[in-house]
Amino acid sequence: MVTVKPRILITVEYPDQVAEDSLTQLQKVADIDLVASSKFSAKTELMKIIPAYNGAIITSNIPFDRQVIDRANNLKVVSRFGVGFDRIDVPAATERGIYVTNTPVLTNTVADLVFGLIFAVARNISIADAYIKSGNWKEREERTKFTGFDISGKALGIIGLGRVGSLVAKRALGFDMSVSYYDIIRYKELEATSHITFCSLKEVLAHSDIISIHTPLSDSTRGLIGEKELALMKKTAILINTSRGSVIDEQALINALQKRRIAGAGLDVHMKEPIDPYNPLLTLPNVVLTPHIGAWTVECNERVVHAAIENTIRVLTGLQPLYSVNTLT
Ligand code: NAD
Repeated sequence: MVTVKPRILITVEYPDQVAEDSLTQLQKVADIDLVASSKFSAKTELMKIIPAYNGAIITSNIPFDRQVIDRANNLKVVSRFGVGFDRIDVPAATERGIYVTNTPVLTNTVADLVFGLIFAVARNISIADAYIKSGNWKEREERTKFTGFDISGKALGIIGLGRVGSLVAKRALGFDMSVSYYDIIRYKELEATSHITFCSLKEVLAHSDIISIHTPLSDSTRGLIGEKELALMKKTAILINTSRGSVIDEQALINALQKRRIAGAGLDVHMKEPIDPYNPLLTLPNVVLTPHIGAWTVECNERVVHAAIENTIRVLTGLQPLYSVNTLT
């Protein structure tokens, strides 16, 4: 008897994103179609092909909404490379008995970038680098244009003290910063073991020198930081966002930065990705931007790919995935 292998769709952002040995491991249990993620970022194409698949291992730009899931008659698992699942309709997947899995193995890597952005903004690293490379450094004293401010001893406010937020807190304590947080959950054990204080959102915004956002994107966090919230921040404060662009009202942030209502921002995530080339954020000197590279290190990519493939193989062979977003009964 010939047994038919399950068929898996994998979307990738660059050709060798999935290492050869990982592909070989997956090919033992499934037939694989590896495609560029840009091909399915609009759902019309995805809807045409999805009925043929038993598993999908996907990048963050692939829209698995209810319409797509309704057509996915044979799908057993949607496995995300990465953590955020805001483009996947999890209730719709659960109703259809489809596992949604992710790979929360990238938290240290993202927490590191948060500090990269904090230092880049606070010490003017990006604009100083552009200045010196442009050959414009004529007088030694001109370096004073890039006078920054200290990080050590400052107050860090964390919005969302989950996996990434708590590791940012840990790093901050190493820099002798005071750390407060706002979350819909109280992390009392962390409060007791580290010097981390729970505050209201208003308090965190009002007293922090640096504010770092680490919530998921959901109905309760879309636009969480808007004009009112930005107005509460100190004029000298900087805002860091490595969560999801839409957690901040981007236009309100642009206004606040242009009017110097706050001192600066470091943004890895954006309302629209890729960011519009005419977005005013691109012209603001007090802003450091990165193209959603929070989890992009060689080591982290290996961990993510390994976990996404392991999640998929486990579901297809009747086991519980390593990291499941939903619970199936
Ligand atoms: P997590 O689920 O571990 O933590 C999120 C925290 O936010 C939780 O403590 C939760 O209680 C809290 N939260 C939820 N809703 C809230 C609300 N309305 N107000 C305040 N707090 C709220 O998530 P994580 O793994 O730490 O990831 C955090 C964010 O980072 C996510 O948005 C994720 O998509 C993003 N992320 C970005 C990158 C990147 O490359 N930049 C990489 C990984 C994760």
